[in-house]
Amino acid sequence: YYEQIQQTERLKTTGQLAAAVAHEIRNPLTVVKGFLQLYEKDTSFSDETKRHFTLMVDELNTAEQVISQFLSIAKPNKETETETVNVKEVLQSVTDLLHSYGLLHDNKIELNVVEDCYIVANNIEFKQLLINIIKNAIEASKIGDSVIVTASRKGEFVEIKVVDYGHGMSEAEVKSLGTPFYSLKSKGTGLGMMICFNIAEKYKGKIDIQSSQGEGTMISISFPATIS
Ligand code: ADP
Ligand code: MG
Repeated sequence: YYEQIQQTERLKTTGQLAAAVAHEIRNPLTVVKGFLQLYEKDTSFSDETKRHFTLMVDELNTAEQVISQFLSIAKPNKETETETVNVKEVLQSVTDLLHSYGLLHDNKIELNVVEDCYIVANNIEFKQLLINIIKNAIEASKIGDSVIVTASRKGEFVEIKVVDYGHGMSEAEVKSLGTPFYSLKSKGTGLGMMICFNIAEKYKGKIDIQSSQGEGTMISISFPATIS
């Protein structure tokens, strides 16, 4: 038992240290990015140099994403408030938020909420989970495809389904989901699904994935239901 406490304390310290380091790296990155963005608009540089500045900004954006996603998992003992979450409202705000993103890829997000349903979770974390999963669905889709999101009460659970008709995954790829830094995207962080699994576990939720290569993916997210 004592051993276990020591181990937990050690993990806590490591997590805090990692979070502090990540935080300290983020500030200089922001400064460098700011200057590069100024140079991108500076007419005294050649077009070729400006293209390089754009590449640098892109790379810094990826680094920033890795850091902020990492920060959201590196603090395991961070206190989060638990509340009754209106699934319909959160889904609405997530789809609104992702709409601009979806439109960039010319995808549409169709939202279908059958009934009012509620779960117990932290609002921000639940939203993060949905954003990560729906964003993956959009990124896997082809131009013009729709991503369909439905929510309904299924017995003791609220089930949210995210369906896409994108490139899908092989069985091995599905198994790799949630492994830190597992990504097949050139600009992916490979942290999105890991965060989703962590959040689901925290609130006794489940994430099921069905995928078929070349046909698409269905991700089912189930959280214990509560009444408003
Ligand atoms: P990232 O999106 O940064 O790559 P994720 O953890 O969110 O990291 O996803 C890991 C990988 O899982 C993705 O790179 C992609 O290959 C695969 N993936 C996730 N969702 C889908 C999906 N809906 N359709 C096809 N592949 C997916
Ligand atoms: Mg992702």
